[in-house]
Amino acid sequence: MGKKIVILGAGFGGLHTALTLGKKIGKENEIILIDKNPYHTYTPTLYEVATTSKETASLIDLKSIVTIPIHKTVNGRNINFINAEIKELDLLGGDVHLADGQKIAWDYLVLALGAETNYFDIPGLKENSFDLKSFTEALQIRDKILDLVLDGKVQIKIVIGGGGPTGVELAGELEEWFGQLKDDYGKCYATITIVDSNPIILNNLDKRVAILAQKRLKKLGVEIINNEIITKVSNEEIYRRTKSDMRSRLFNRRCKLDDYKMISKVPICEEGEEEFYKQAKENYDRAMLCPKILKQNPNQISEMCPCGGSFCKSTRQRHCNTKMHKKYFRII
Ligand SMILES: Cc1cc2nc3c(=O)[nH]c(=O)nc-3n(C[C@H](O)[C@H](O)[C@H](O)COP(=O)(O)OP(=O)(O)OC[C@H]3O[C@@H](n4cnc5c(N)ncnc54)[C@H](O)[C@@H]3O)c2cc1C
Repeated sequence: MGKKIVILGAGFGGLHTALTLGKKIGKENEIILIDKNPYHTYTPTLYEVATTSKETASLIDLKSIVTIPIHKTVNGRNINFINAEIKELDLLGGDVHLADGQKIAWDYLVLALGAETNYFDIPGLKENSFDLKSFTEALQIRDKILDLVLDGKVQIKIVIGGGGPTGVELAGELEEWFGQLKDDYGKCYATITIVDSNPIILNNLDKRVAILAQKRLKKLGVEIINNEIITKVSNEEIYRRTKSDMRSRLFNRRCKLDDYKMISKVPICEEGEEEFYKQAKENYDRAMLCPKILKQNPNQISEMCPCGGSFCKSTRQRHCNTKMHKKYFRII
């Protein structure tokens, strides 16, 4: 009898999993892919949306570079896409509850709901910063900057929290964009600052690359503050360590991501909860597809892991060290 594989989230991990499984498993099996958006967000081009004037590209043009319609992508494949928000995972009942009241049962469940921004409990950070994880958020950043320029603000200060790849890309693009804005609207200057707690930006990359990137950004005019931690954020100021020395609006490119809320809430068997575990075991086993396969046949994980699409040995290692996967491993 065919199996029902339910994949939650059509981001990088979920969509890749669905497409790969669609090619490999027989038609007697059903793949259900669920996402709250009708499109897949191609995050690497988000900063372009955040730094393109309304005159340069229409909303439709911008949307087309960042979003890929899921219906079209899965059309003609063995994948049934449901555009709905997932409200609840009922691991004991073995089904997923959607916002419209539908309940979808699974034989196998793939969790690929992404991650949420971790604000590290920094006071005021969430309320006073912009995030850059979705098309809408990218537009919010763009519109805020355009509003300031159109309001005649001459000196605009932007702080980017975190000098990872996106913070760096965004800083470079912003510098370039402000060059254009100055041509189009006259007097307006930007001070773009990256605050990073590491001694150098792009800390995870080869040091030589990071040094080159840091030099290049500085040449472009980006200010880089290393070895500093943002401790508090208000409407117009950020506090680094104990000093309040900047008046600026802060754009928070996700400093670090935390587990997706819903996943964090998945009940995990802790010590002393063996009875509960026993009851729920059957559904757990079917939900925790990835580590189960990893255990049985590590080579297959590349196709099926819920936390990432393009898997290779090294990335598998990295993913499986995440908090999320450690949880999964515990219950196998
Ligand atoms: C600005 C930016 C640039 C990046 N650039 C790169 C890059 O160049 N290269 C690279 O490798 N990585 C890049 N990344 C990282 C990459 O985007 C992530 O690692 C990747 O998206 C994670 O994949 P995922 O499937 O776990 O989650 P996501 O891709 O975030 O997918 C999660 C999906 O779940 C859906 N979802 C969430 N909650 C619900 C719900 N309740 N109901 C229904 N659907 C829901 C979301 O709509 C989304 O489609 C970048 C990230 C950002 C933010």
